[in-house]
Amino acid sequence: MRNIIFLGPPGSGKGTHAEKASRSMSIPRLSTGDMLREHMKQGTALGQEASAFVNSGNLVPDDVIIGMIRERLTDADCKGGVIFDGFPRTAAQAEALDGIAKIDLVINLEIDDDRIVSRMSGRRVCPACGHTSHTSLMQGNGCAECKTEMIIRKDDVPETVKARLAVYHEMTKPLIDYYSKRGILRSVDSDGTLAEAEARVCEALR
Ligand code: ADP
Repeated sequence: MRNIIFLGPPGSGKGTHAEKASRSMSIPRLSTGDMLREHMKQGTALGQEASAFVNSGNLVPDDVIIGMIRERLTDADCKGGVIFDGFPRTAAQAEALDGIAKIDLVINLEIDDDRIVSRMSGRRVCPACGHTSHTSLMQGNGCAECKTEMIIRKDDVPETVKARLAVYHEMTKPLIDYYSKRGILRSVDSDGTLAEAEARVCEALR
């Protein structure tokens, strides 16, 4: 049983690396961003509450996020360990998580802010299956997984990316210290090619 957190600024490749790790370790990836987007797509009460926060690049209130994760963790497929992607994002979320699950490892993806904005401008997401990619890696506009036309996420426009980065520095970055003090944090350079970063993440997961 292994519970792993992928920590890092928006655009650091959390989703991509967490998806890969989830497949190779056969444990589910719990992406709070994906869960929120699914709620928004379905128009649930939670989705309606979250959309203004998500679309402006702000954090959804802690109690909403913690409730969503707490419920998901009761599912049978989570019993053998999970990968948290985009959660926790605040000290309150990290503290709440400590009361629910034992964290074994935190992979901290590092990348400079100026690289993030350029990365995000090329990011595309599949509206059908949630697969993400980058224009530099794509041939045509179709999703590599299900062929649906990929789109630009609403919160990936440059002004919102800057807001999300500011939120990351203020609210999420302190978690590096939180987990580092506990001796379970491994930092990985997330710059360079996808293959290079992937190899470093793989090494850190061993
Ligand atoms: P990224 O890591 O690229 O910013 P995500 O898909 O993880 O993208 O998150 C998108 C948005 O969803 C965030 O900007 C925020 O509004 C909301 N969100 C996701 N996870 C959390 C969380 N743990 N706490 C609060 N808000 C969240």
